[in-house]
Amino acid sequence: MRQVTLKSGDKVPVLGVGTWRMGERKGERAAEVAAIKLALDLGIRLVDTAEMYGEGGAEEMLSEALAGRRDEIFLVSKVYPHNASRNGVLAACERSLKRLKTDRLDLYLLHWPGSVPIEETIGAFETLVKGGKIKSWGVSNFDAGQMAALARAPDGGNCASNQVLYHLGSRGVEWKLLDDCRKSNVMVMAYSPLGQGPLLRKPALKAIADKHGVEPAAIALAWVLRHPGVITIPKAVKAEHVKANMKALDVKLDAEDLKALDAALPPPKRAEPLDMT
Ligand code: NAP
Repeated sequence: MRQVTLKSGDKVPVLGVGTWRMGERKGERAAEVAAIKLALDLGIRLVDTAEMYGEGGAEEMLSEALAGRRDEIFLVSKVYPHNASRNGVLAACERSLKRLKTDRLDLYLLHWPGSVPIEETIGAFETLVKGGKIKSWGVSNFDAGQMAALARAPDGGNCASNQVLYHLGSRGVEWKLLDDCRKSNVMVMAYSPLGQGPLLRKPALKAIADKHGVEPAAIALAWVLRHPGVITIPKAVKAEHVKANMKALDVKLDAEDLKALDAALPPPKRAEPLDMT
């Protein structure tokens, strides 16, 4: 699988899996663990989670799904903005490590901008890196202005990634943020790449999916992955969804496909506030 190289030199596979809305209900745990294990069996090595997901439930679920395979995985988690003070970050990271039953995270993100001064959060992240608790740090839901401010903060240049909403139906990041991140070697992690489902019913997507002999989801994912430096983390519990998403790696969209998708789901014509829904 194609990989993106982080500032640390670590390599991250471009296609992973997300875990939002997992770990919320005990009765669904077996299906969720099975979905993650299936993804790993099919070659996935990137897993995204957060202390927020199921209030720790997703991380606990992952400890079961990743058991015995942790060293093969690039593992990402996120800290709540209300835990983003110096001591708050250090304590939240320890809790995440405990729930995940691991001794380090590969990437730790501030989930969205909050009221704690970013310098303080960066300081805590740097302490975690020095202590070997995390390998890299980054942010999520930061717009272009917030990324510029972050880059000016002490050690802000060490930010490895910005995780933002990006899919065919929401292309605002194409106006400026994607370019800015590429120029500063900040990996973009596209979240909700399937638009959480409804996007996949768009006729334009279906037509191109039929042409390539795949499901619309594979087209939506291949489209996000057409940018160098962008990776993505679709969430799927149903086995047929997990399998369909893997096919994105085989799809090569041509100029005609991209033109048809631009016509149906156009790029931004002006700067837009960062979408988070
Ligand atoms: P998504 O991945 O765009 O969509 C997930 C939905 O699509 C689920 O309902 C899933 O159903 C369905 N699906 C998956 N594969 C499919 C397929 N091949 N065909 C049809 N439907 C399919 O949405 P998301 O969960 O919001 O985003 C992905 C991940 O990004 C999250 O899980 C999370 O890790 C991360 N995220 C981060 C933030 C942030 O603020 N940083 C915000 C949102 C999400 P089943 O589960 O039933 O298979």
